[in-house]
Amino acid sequence: MPSPILISACLLGQPVRYDGGANGVSQHPVLAAWLAAGRVLALCPELAGGLPVPRPPAERLRDAQGRERVLDVHGRDVTAAFEAGAEQALSLAREHGVRLAVLKEGSPSCGSGYVYDGSFSRRRVPGRGLTAERLMQAGIQVFSEHELEAAQRWLQALEAGDDLAAAAAAAA
Ligand code: SF4
Repeated sequence: MPSPILISACLLGQPVRYDGGANGVSQHPVLAAWLAAGRVLALCPELAGGLPVPRPPAERLRDAQGRERVLDVHGRDVTAAFEAGAEQALSLAREHGVRLAVLKEGSPSCGSGYVYDGSFSRRRVPGRGLTAERLMQAGIQVFSEHELEAAQRWLQALEAGDDLAAAAAAAA
């Protein structure tokens, strides 16, 4: 049985974003095909970590002591909830044998290519959200919603028997 693909719940239209909205891309043919095949495992790490909807926006930053933290727009430290959500995501992924995740770009949990810089001024910096980072450290391949075709090529190559390097080359 093919392994499920972990997807940010907001990408599936679930209203779990900090503002109660979603970023649904489930009309995308790649995602629609995965949904039709019953391969999608949805998770919102921030809800899994105990945060509510709605919630204040939060951003990842490095503080004056060099510690990685996540603060909300009011200055409240929500790092523990974000870390708990990342651990929940990893547990779920391991339980189901997940090899591939597609996560919402730019999020302090789910971003895989960039995040916002902690100034709440919409300034992007290269980086990852806590959940994306945790999954990658565990060897799970993460793509953003802008890379669904690449994710599909990666998955097809892997399931055709290619090794990880060949799958990465297929996705490039
Ligand atoms: Fe979407 Fe991830 Fe943010 Fe949840 S934590 S709303 S799944 S981007």
